[in-house]
Amino acid sequence: PVTLLEAKNLVKHYSVSQGLFKPKATARALDGVSFSLQPGKTLAVVGESGCGKSTLARQITMIEPPTGGELWMDGANIADADRATLKRVRPLVQMVFQNPYASLNPRKKVGQMLEEPLIINTGLNAAERADKARAMMAKVGLRPEHYSRYPHMFSGGQRQRVAIARALMLDPKVIVADEPVSALDVSIQAQVLNLLMDLQQASGVAYLFISHNLSVVEHIADDVLVMYLGKTVEHGSKQQVFSRPLHPYTRALLASTPRIDPAQRQQKMMLPGELPSPLAPPPGCSFNNRCPYAVERCRQEVPALREFGGSMVACHRVEEIH
Ligand code: SF4
Ligand code: MG
Repeated sequence: PVTLLEAKNLVKHYSVSQGLFKPKATARALDGVSFSLQPGKTLAVVGESGCGKSTLARQITMIEPPTGGELWMDGANIADADRATLKRVRPLVQMVFQNPYASLNPRKKVGQMLEEPLIINTGLNAAERADKARAMMAKVGLRPEHYSRYPHMFSGGQRQRVAIARALMLDPKVIVADEPVSALDVSIQAQVLNLLMDLQQASGVAYLFISHNLSVVEHIADDVLVMYLGKTVEHGSKQQVFSRPLHPYTRALLASTPRIDPAQRQQKMMLPGELPSPLAPPPGCSFNNRCPYAVERCRQEVPALREFGGSMVACHRVEEIH
């Protein structure tokens, strides 16, 4: 399969001030994450807030450079690219944000918002831009009269349709969607997810879909990558991860998610304890202070990400647990 986007051991560390006379600390927001994404596919990145999902989004959308590793997009390593290459590659990755109320400029009409990226990045004239904007509006289920309306006149679901239309205006190859339906009513969420899936079918765009909501992920993902404190703890097909979660963290996440199918419902096992600070993760397996299976080895040795039963998992005890 053609690989569109590939992360190899991607690292992002931040230097954090701890006070005037104290040495700076290092937050390992992203600590060696690898994956690949094919055209027309959806990779869901799952974890609690603070796990590194948003940091990953900022690397892929080229908002900030990684500290280490490689990030290949359309044949270029954007972790180590010159300005000309970044200029070429940047429009290929677009972003849809969680909050459609905050991400749309209230002073601009829908038509203006959709045409803006065309003014900057293409040589189309005004009439051509308007045609393209109107065609995109139809694709995302907006009506022609919405062209000259302001965002405040829309519902949350319609606003997210505008944001999706805007993200698609430059025919991107990848859309990074950061919790795109979390701010919407449950009744609207499925509509927007189905729209995203229809648009993918029609255009072949790939999604990096960031979410903490596993019932949403189950609806839309092809593959699932579970992150904990900047590291991948499990990575596999949706089928595998949902039917046979391997890592204790994945199991806890799934168990605490309300499932649509009652046969799939498991006993509720909420995660004990808080996510540790990325400035001071526990030694060994960073999940050890919350894991019901933790043993001494888990407090000393960092588990490597390795293949098990067709998935990748980072747990010393996966054989015993299964
Ligand atoms: Fe739990 Fe140990 Fe596996 Fe970490 S390595 S998830 S602490 S059993
Ligand atoms: Mg986040």
